[in-house]
Amino acid sequence: MSDRHITDNKCLPKRVQFPDDESKFRWMPMLLDAYAIIDEGIAIAISEEDKRDIKLSCKKGCDSCCRTHKDIPVYPLELVGIYWFSTEKVVQPVREILKRQLSSHIKGDPCPFLINSSCSIHLIRPIACRQFNVFNRQCAEGEDPFYTRRDDVLTPIKDYTAQAFYTMLPFYGVTDEDDKIDAIENNLIHSLVRILQSCSWKELAGIMTDFDAKKH
Ligand code: SF4
Ligand code: SF4
Repeated sequence: MSDRHITDNKCLPKRVQFPDDESKFRWMPMLLDAYAIIDEGIAIAISEEDKRDIKLSCKKGCDSCCRTHKDIPVYPLELVGIYWFSTEKVVQPVREILKRQLSSHIKGDPCPFLINSSCSIHLIRPIACRQFNVFNRQCAEGEDPFYTRRDDVLTPIKDYTAQAFYTMLPFYGVTDEDDKIDAIENNLIHSLVRILQSCSWKELAGIMTDFDAKKH
């Protein structure tokens, strides 16, 4: 395992860039690099299915997964990214709606970032959301195809997932090469996982409100 990307294929999705912010926040390149690796792995896995004439059903505006799933894993570095993006990048009119949804969110409610059938933090959404892709037909209302038709749910390519978590390890203080490999092989990072729907989002709503007040 190394810090290099797994492939250089030019047809793959582009890495999200925030050059000014990336030079200010040390955590940000790690997160965006990790997301780029995840997106690359997903694009390859989907294209492999496509070659077997198995078609992706996920598309813009299809949102039952975001309303149905109650246990989306999210890691501390991803939460830092979500806090930053919501506070500094989400613009009106979505911003006011998001603040309201975060303020009224109760643990266990569906994801508060879904607004008008779109993800308000799409560029920085968690790995679990990026990796959940479904083939053959769109999910029925309330259906979680992981349980109803597991074969239609994309299985992420393990090497890409491992490489993405490896890329994020310095954020958690793991910098030694042997320690990194040990952390990946023993899934140590997974002990840090939280559940997105069980997080308390009121604090983020308050941070966004304070940020807005300082701008005026
Ligand atoms: S996972 Fe299901 S509900 Fe979500 S975008 Fe894909 S097909 Fe639509
Ligand atoms: S973070 Fe975005 S993609 Fe993930 S569940 Fe929430 S609205 Fe859906």
